[in-house]
Amino acid sequence: MAVIGAYPGGRLFASADLGMPLKKFDNQAYENAGSRPLTDKHIHRLEQVAGTTFLADYVASMYGGMFVPLNLPENMDNIDLYSRSLKASAKRGKVDQIMSQALDDGIIEKHKADAIISALINYMSARYAEVIATIQLLQQGGDPLSNYYLVCPHCRSSVRIRTSEGTHIFLRIAYLQCTNEACGATFRAQFEITHEMSPSGMPNPTVKLPVAPVSIRRFAMKKDNDQPDLLDQLDMEATTA
Ligand SMILES: [Zn+2]
Repeated sequence: MAVIGAYPGGRLFASADLGMPLKKFDNQAYENAGSRPLTDKHIHRLEQVAGTTFLADYVASMYGGMFVPLNLPENMDNIDLYSRSLKASAKRGKVDQIMSQALDDGIIEKHKADAIISALINYMSARYAEVIATIQLLQQGGDPLSNYYLVCPHCRSSVRIRTSEGTHIFLRIAYLQCTNEACGATFRAQFEITHEMSPSGMPNPTVKLPVAPVSIRRFAMKKDNDQPDLLDQLDMEATTA
């Protein structure tokens, strides 16, 4: 049974997980004469640990279909949606790439066909998660486009923050890359703390910033609900870079 091979530690640990003596486990797993096979529940439990989907694949194939695992997002924000969208695009790119290679070769061998189907399943799963995430975000009153406000000035695709660095306590420099492969432009950008909106409860005497004028306050109030959190994004990109 493939799942036992995939289970970390193999049959010994798999049998312990199910609370079965090894001998009984072996009899059931390998359906030795007179033994009941492992139940679906048992296999499901082992697959949760092994990270495999053999049972679902097997049942789906019995019905002439295929199993597409769906990872449902729970708590969504714009950043999460943005990364899901990128992942789905990358996975779609992978399908197209393998397909295009196969077309160039003019022949599809079994292992290539398997690779295409497997890439397709990965893409469908990622795309599903992206669509559900968008629905969830909109239901929460979020704006999925607000995360895309940093766009490439050439092609208007979203840009990602490749790296960022703090050069001064008020200033952060970021290096941006257009996510559109055909464009590929890169940029330097800077984010600067320019005004104090409200005073700190722990003021640093060396920090001297102008107090924001009324016009800035009005603008901030209007924008408060729909502005993405850029610094969060900087932090996130910096830690994943
Ligand atoms: Zn671009």
